[in-house]
Amino acid sequence: MSEQRVGSTVLGYPRIGPNRELKRAVEGYWAGRVDEGELSRVARRLRLDTWRGLAAAGLDSVPSNTFSYYDHVLDTTALLGALPARFTDLDLSTLDTYFAAARGVPHAPALEMTKWFDTNYHYLVPELGPDTTFTLAERKPLDEYREAKAAGVETRPVLLGPVTYLLLAKPAPGASAGFRPLDLLDAVLPVYAELLGALAEAGADWVQLDEPAFAADRTPAELAELERAYATLGGRRDRPRLLVAGYLGALGDALGVLARSPVEALALDLVSDPAAVDQVAGTAAAKDNALKGKEVVAGVVDGRNVWRTDVDAALATLARLRDTAAPEISVGVGTSCSLLHVPYDVSAETGLDERLRGWLSFAEQKVAEVVLLGRALRAGAGAVAGELATARAATRDRASAGQLRDPRVRDRLAALRPEDATRTDHARRVAAQRASLDLPLLPTTTIGSFPQTAEVRRLRAAHRASRVDATEYRAAMRAEIERVIRLQEDLGLDVLVHGEPERNDMVQYFAEQLTGFATTEHGWVQSYGTRCVRPPILYGDVSRPAPMTVEWATFAQSLTDRPVKGMLTGPVTMLAWSFVRDDQPLADTARQVALAVRDEVHDLEAAGIRVIQVDEPALREGLPLRRERHAEYLGWAVAAFRLTTAGVADGTQVHTHMCYAEFGDILPAVESIDVDVISVEAARSRMEVLGDLAESGFSRAVGPGVHDIHSPRVPDVEEITELLRTALEVVSADRLWVNPDCGLKTRGYAEVEPALRNLVAAARALRPTV
Ligand code: GLN
Ligand code: ZN
Repeated sequence: MSEQRVGSTVLGYPRIGPNRELKRAVEGYWAGRVDEGELSRVARRLRLDTWRGLAAAGLDSVPSNTFSYYDHVLDTTALLGALPARFTDLDLSTLDTYFAAARGVPHAPALEMTKWFDTNYHYLVPELGPDTTFTLAERKPLDEYREAKAAGVETRPVLLGPVTYLLLAKPAPGASAGFRPLDLLDAVLPVYAELLGALAEAGADWVQLDEPAFAADRTPAELAELERAYATLGGRRDRPRLLVAGYLGALGDALGVLARSPVEALALDLVSDPAAVDQVAGTAAAKDNALKGKEVVAGVVDGRNVWRTDVDAALATLARLRDTAAPEISVGVGTSCSLLHVPYDVSAETGLDERLRGWLSFAEQKVAEVVLLGRALRAGAGAVAGELATARAATRDRASAGQLRDPRVRDRLAALRPEDATRTDHARRVAAQRASLDLPLLPTTTIGSFPQTAEVRRLRAAHRASRVDATEYRAAMRAEIERVIRLQEDLGLDVLVHGEPERNDMVQYFAEQLTGFATTEHGWVQSYGTRCVRPPILYGDVSRPAPMTVEWATFAQSLTDRPVKGMLTGPVTMLAWSFVRDDQPLADTARQVALAVRDEVHDLEAAGIRVIQVDEPALREGLPLRRERHAEYLGWAVAAFRLTTAGVADGTQVHTHMCYAEFGDILPAVESIDVDVISVEAARSRMEVLGDLAESGFSRAVGPGVHDIHSPRVPDVEEITELLRTALEVVSADRLWVNPDCGLKTRGYAEVEPALRNLVAAARALRPTV
């Protein structure tokens, strides 16, 4: 019998394995330690465990095709037969062709990688040109559907929707200027139709098509293409029922377009867009109720954060939806987006404070929440009163917990005055810093980290596991810092760094030392491919009980006469790469973190550190998907940054670093954070970024990277000189710094030493000529 409703479901699930089994198997395969058979056995086991787990938990509808060896966008490109010829011409097996596109091989550089909307997941960008043809080249969604069915689980295959797929693509190199990948819609729709037909034939009742691109601003033409796509796909007879999922933000006008289209169900992200309830109600009230006969899967369980759902709030939302929409629109319960963005299981976190653990919900717990809410919706709250009471108690406990609110932090914030976020005039600072630092023209420096050798990593791990005591660890770290200082002196760099050997990660290192943050043991989330991160959990008011970096920085400074740059992570990046509290505005949390960083800045300065860098590589990625919300975001982000650094003396030089070359919408913010020096990525784009900066009126010193640290290649003196000459066409010599693109921690000394030597030589040779 075929299922008429989706009911309760999740839009997607983590796939790396509860213990990162997939990461180990895939990396083992790349290293030649694991053969293809073994790799596919590991993958199959993970898929089966996921399906069985979701079915056993009581979901009405279980998703499939959420597994991926590397990335679901790359899977889609392979499925559609649209991998660029530079990979398919390699004559490799299907799997190796796929990995070649993901990672590159000599002479066939990998597909570009970029962020999946405003999350920290990264996907591989399809490269499509006017000549791209699409065919159903693979059968992964079908195979997984059948695999699940054979294991006794009926599933709903999940596909990346055709319009979002094309909107995520970029024109292939050589495509004509006017070409947009979306021009290929007519070419791709028949393949989707064919696939839907095959899935129907295999027995699939439902297929989910993800269209998150419509949570961002879209043109009327793009909305028209969405309409056409679903009119075409929905208009076919030999197809499963279609659930179209929009998530990560408000669908806006796309909601109406999809409502009018011949699909059976829509999944809405009511966590990021609570107002969608009103939109649905409005549609239902209209005479020609476009949603009539459809199902709305209400995404009330947050798929991208780790807090337990407030069941009463969720039930109220569901009740409102049902009361305004029923009986013509049926209501299901879901997650706001895929659970890809959260770790597997809270109960694995035995090291967490027990009370905090009670407030958290990872993927497994979120599934249970969806099931619970689904039952409450169907059978009434009374039927699940006990479970609701437990959930309610946790929410209440969190709301009342003393450790969330620190009156000292709140009082400090309340007492802030505008001048606390304002430095003196920039020209005055330039003069003061000339006197305090006495740097040559075109000063040379690095972005902070030096190569993290196996020995450094081993030491940190041993210290963490208490195999190395504090004294021994400190001595070893000091030895490393001394080595790095001597090397920089030998290389002739002007502003030195301590090299960051003590840091596992630029956010986690600070999170571990601040109150209000917790870190997990197993809370891994896929960042891209086999790379996983463990975002800290920011749960309460933030303060800094003790200095975090001063000891290392002052030790480094004690070894040398040259200025050593103190190195901190800024508040916006701390938030962007953590799970943040949802019980107060982000702006308030940012100001708390800013005050903690400000304390560190103050202590560094008091300890004699004259140059302080506050890294904000995530400033741009936090930009909301909708333009109408940019100003609000940039307002609090800039204010938080300024709060960290505005307390220093004129002679203290403030740097920031951002890891990208395209500033676009955040250019105005780059000036208003009011730093003295900014370093940015520029080597790959051959200094293009400087033109944008200059045009925006950026008036501070800038260090455009002259060494692409993402590549093992060592740039020679000539090449660096060339880049600097290009830079000098736009930036005056008294404002230009010379540095690599980013931190050096992922590189080896064999590349870093000669690269930095060439960098210093180029700067020195150029000085007398400018
Ligand atoms: N200071 C950090 C480093 O050098 C900056 C890292 C980053 O920009 N992501 O590693
Ligand atoms: Zn960087």
